[in-house]
Amino acid sequence: MTNNADSIVYRTLDGSEAQLPRGVLSRFVGALGGHVTTGGEAYERARTTWNAMVEHRPAVIAHCSSTEDVTEAIAFARAHTMLLSVRGGGHHVAGNAVADGGLEIDLSPMRGVRVDAAKRRAFVGGGALLGDVDAATQAHGLGVPLGINSTTGFGGLCLGGGFGWLTRKLGLTIDNLVSASLVTAEGDALTVSAANEPDLFWAIRGGGGNFGVVTSFELALHPVGPLVHSAIVAYPASDARDILMKWRELTANAPEELTVWALLRKAPPLPFLPAEVHGTDVVVLVALYVGDPAEGARATAPLLRFGKPHGHVAGPQPYVAFQQMFDPLLAAGARNYWKTNEFVDLADGAIDAVIEGSRALPGPECEIFIASLGGAMGRVSSNATAYAGRSTRYVMNAHGRWRSPAEDATVRTWARALFDATAPFATGGGYVNFLTADEQARVESAYGSNYARLRDVKERFDPDNVFRMNHNIPPREIPRRVKSRSTRITRRE
Ligand SMILES: Cc1cc2nc3c(=O)[nH]c(=O)nc-3n(C[C@H](O)[C@H](O)[C@H](O)COP(=O)(O)OP(=O)(O)OC[C@H]3O[C@@H](n4cnc5c(N)ncnc54)[C@H](O)[C@@H]3O)c2cc1C
Repeated sequence: MTNNADSIVYRTLDGSEAQLPRGVLSRFVGALGGHVTTGGEAYERARTTWNAMVEHRPAVIAHCSSTEDVTEAIAFARAHTMLLSVRGGGHHVAGNAVADGGLEIDLSPMRGVRVDAAKRRAFVGGGALLGDVDAATQAHGLGVPLGINSTTGFGGLCLGGGFGWLTRKLGLTIDNLVSASLVTAEGDALTVSAANEPDLFWAIRGGGGNFGVVTSFELALHPVGPLVHSAIVAYPASDARDILMKWRELTANAPEELTVWALLRKAPPLPFLPAEVHGTDVVVLVALYVGDPAEGARATAPLLRFGKPHGHVAGPQPYVAFQQMFDPLLAAGARNYWKTNEFVDLADGAIDAVIEGSRALPGPECEIFIASLGGAMGRVSSNATAYAGRSTRYVMNAHGRWRSPAEDATVRTWARALFDATAPFATGGGYVNFLTADEQARVESAYGSNYARLRDVKERFDPDNVFRMNHNIPPREIPRRVKSRSTRITRRE
């Protein structure tokens, strides 16, 4: 794709190349107050995603600071039938946030979070990161279920479902979504809720970015911390089977305040582990108790008695600090490939397959984690929101993480083998926020019986599949040809 003095080349919705006259681009730049880039520092920042395997270069990036900017950008993309993507935090492993050759809507200027502590509500900008939400809500001793890494984008996480340490007690992130303000493919700015456009509100709670660009989320908040009790205990991998069996027993009977995830990897050089353990295979249990820290100390004490640990760290700490604890291990810049399976119960065979997979870890940063869920998220029926996996109580992620492209094939093969080995014990469902770029075929099973309704809602709100850079839900009737048309909105000149 080569630009020249008169025009730039871009990719259209059907994948073909087209020319955009520079004069037309200049008018768009003006309409967004200059916050449009085709190169330079801001462009590079906004096109770079968490997963270094994604090397997409948009033709144009619109750095949006308002609903009007978003509306303008959608109208521009549609007028030129441009491939369009939306970037929240840019964390999705599939890299759909960045349209290669197309127009990227960068929501990072919209990171504001406003808290109404009296009403226990947060209003979160479409480009906010999880750390932004935790910081603003914890200032009032309040919180909402989020993921485990503070630099993840709230937008993508919430629209796909969202689970983390508070989920067993307080549900998924979407279970706490009260309303969302979004711009549709037609350019309509809507605020959707249980009372207003209920079908669309249903669809965005799990349906990902398929239905519009969310500029603001309204969330119900709950008292959380600010001090919580956490524990991390590392055992030698030689004891993994015994430890995982005891962990399974504990998680099956734990109070909803207590969440314990299991991690199999090579020991990082953490201060609470003796130097001789660093780099050896370990099984690590990570626990958080959301409630009285003294009660948390009692609830997590058995984790230390499962065997003879290499080391542990436990005690009360600020919830905000705990939420950032895994950031260094999950920083942007590495190559990443994931394969995930979900389980209602963890059969012995699944545990054996995980242990077998951990013996073949292809690198020092690769890991297998098993999230323990259930509790409040499972009390919502599987068709109450688009997110269908309500019966899931364990999610396993074979997280391949490495640095050199020369290792791509080895790591992918390892992750796929572990996925295959655990598949006979899994639900067959999936979580769209964890699906890689090559897993579009899993979208239908991820949504199960909700898929047909999602396609109907997609047909109603995005019949031309303008929002297709995601784990895509195609409209009920695929249009014979992609239409190029202006949206109904009035564009700013
Ligand atoms: C290190 C790491 C840890 C993670 N931990 C967890 C976890 O604990 N729990 C969990 O549930 N998930 C977790 N995830 C997965 C995470 O939920 C997804 O990667 C999610 O998509 C991230 O959101 P984002 O805004 O950063 O993504 P992006 O890559 O920016 O976007 C992902 C998709 O969402 C769409 N999108 C984003 N924002 C908007 C918006 N405002 N309006 C419309 N569409 C939008 C994009 O178009 C794209 O299709 C983790 C991911 C990483 C990389």
